Amino acid sequence: MTVHRSACPLDCPDACSLAVTVHEGGRVVEITGDERAPITNGFVCGKVRKLADHLYGADRILHPMIHGERVSWETALDHIAAKLTQIRDRWGGAAILPYHYGGSNGWLTEGALATRFFRRIRASILDRTYCASATSAAQGGVVGAMPGVMLEDYAHAKLIVVWGTNLHATGIHLVPVIERAREAGAKLVVVDPRATPLARRADLHIPLRPGTDLPVALSIIHAMFERGHADLAFLERHAAEVDVLRSRAADWSLEAAAREAAIDPALLDRFVELYAASSPAAIRIGYGPERNRNGGSAIAAIMAIAAVGGKFGVRGGGFTMSNGDSARWKVTPEAAIAEEPSIVRHVNMGNLASALATLTDPPIAAVFVYNCNPAATAPDQVAVLEQLRRDDVFVVCHEQVWTDTARLADVVLPSTAMLEHREISRGYGTMRLYDARPVATPPGEARSNNQVFAALLDRMGLAKPGDPTTDDELAAAIFASHPAGAELRAQLDSRGIATPSVGEHPIPFVDVFPSHPDRKIHLVPGPLDREAGGLYTYKRDPATSDYPLALISPALATQISSTFGQLRTAPAQLELAAADAAARGIANGDAIRVWNARGEIRCTAKITSDLQPGTCLLPKGLWHKHTSNGHTSNAVIPEGFADLGGQVAWNDARVQVSKVETQTQS
Ligand code: SF4
Repeated sequence: MTVHRSACPLDCPDACSLAVTVHEGGRVVEITGDERAPITNGFVCGKVRKLADHLYGADRILHPMIHGERVSWETALDHIAAKLTQIRDRWGGAAILPYHYGGSNGWLTEGALATRFFRRIRASILDRTYCASATSAAQGGVVGAMPGVMLEDYAHAKLIVVWGTNLHATGIHLVPVIERAREAGAKLVVVDPRATPLARRADLHIPLRPGTDLPVALSIIHAMFERGHADLAFLERHAAEVDVLRSRAADWSLEAAAREAAIDPALLDRFVELYAASSPAAIRIGYGPERNRNGGSAIAAIMAIAAVGGKFGVRGGGFTMSNGDSARWKVTPEAAIAEEPSIVRHVNMGNLASALATLTDPPIAAVFVYNCNPAATAPDQVAVLEQLRRDDVFVVCHEQVWTDTARLADVVLPSTAMLEHREISRGYGTMRLYDARPVATPPGEARSNNQVFAALLDRMGLAKPGDPTTDDELAAAIFASHPAGAELRAQLDSRGIATPSVGEHPIPFVDVFPSHPDRKIHLVPGPLDREAGGLYTYKRDPATSDYPLALISPALATQISSTFGQLRTAPAQLELAAADAAARGIANGDAIRVWNARGEIRCTAKITSDLQPGTCLLPKGLWHKHTSNGHTSNAVIPEGFADLGGQVAWNDARVQVSKVETQTQS
């Protein structure tokens, strides 16, 4: 056995440093956290602790397949190259759509050579809007590339607000830091439609209706100004557009926001007083508030609360959103891609069904899927499946296991997984960078993303002399492309981990400032105002009398979106409040249908006290096998978007639920 250092590149803010025990035959035996990243603190989540089940399970794809028949890599690649060439010759490259997401968040497998390939054939460009589009847009407009409060620094806070994230599922390493802060006297507030594990033991839980984060945040801002809690000295010195924000928040009293959010206004009153009286106060902003029609404005308003309260300038004070681009790593994968982008058609990944159905100039004739599982994860699922199953749409899927998408693809290519290929990855919660070498032997004939696209570049005559192609060449190109690269490379070689030039624990408005030319926080940035058609304009709940229940689809603790879904054996359950169940004659465990005009899900009911009446929950990342009719929450989620960033509005689905009468045998 050998223990190797590695890193987790999965789509998770914690970016753990790993210790991986590998059998001499190259098989992973054990994975734990190591101490290089302080936030990892020697432990990893259950998902990665059990990664061997994913790597060596019965669902692992071992060989290339065409229409269900095993073929050689040569045959599969020749077939793909011939089909893509034929499509490109007939319609141009824009008829080919790459469809990919963050199955791995690294600079190598997330698209170094894949991006080069699709740029060179001038394929349609995919706008990746499943997650963080609205928050990235809001954060860019409000503070630019300023890092937020480091996760380790939450230990210094006297008040911690966890807004719209279930940390036990999506960021477990912040939990012990919060517990340490609470032992030292900190108060905890959770703003979430659901009573998450942290909400259940919080000092204050605000169970707002999905999609009402915006009026709630604006009412808090309004009350802080009205009650003299606004830090006018901070705003004068460090903020812009203060009066515009104040006037736009003025419509929202605590009572009006509480009515919209279906909560007791006393909860908001308590929040305002607690927040005003506490310093340092840190707000951990999750991705829940962005996933609705008001999502971008909601995130901007939550960030503005910290500015109005003047909570910056102390360790543990301010907010944390994403630190991915805020770290100013100053190196990017562009040098590895080695091909400039050109002006080509963009397709929002949330529009997959309608793009396949309606685009004509040219139509989409091929979809190349990697690091993604759209058959399970794209909105408007019934239409997506119908489109992907069309005979005249060529679907290729490069994948690790037999996902729902792989099962309907024309060509399936076996992919290496984390630990089996090299990956350069950086955290977006914690500011750490890794260069993790392969430590495990891939089973079967699995090949990495770069191996696949290097072969296709060759076959289609798109390779150019001097292109960086091997992982070593790609990594060297990335680090050579900027002066900071040599320093980061040296840190990686000596410590196995690198931190950015802004340091490990910068304090916002002391060590780092908004990256705007005036170094101020912009509370109503012009570009966001224009994009949103009026930032902070509230769009009301889309519920109707036919479809009154708000469906939310938060993350499971056992999966990262749909990744690892093959390992889940438990069937799906729709969680709903006792009052909603009673009104429909539904008991725990009953077979039910969940539907709206777009589609229907058949599963069983689970009555819970974690949800308020009017809200129900079916987790994201479920696969077809988890429901009795093969549909997941995406069957009832429309192709709808937030007000910024083209973000998919997952939580705007409104549904009806009823019991399915089972036939009794006579
Ligand atoms: S998924 Fe997140 S918590 Fe789990 S090992 Fe990876 S980085 Fe750590």
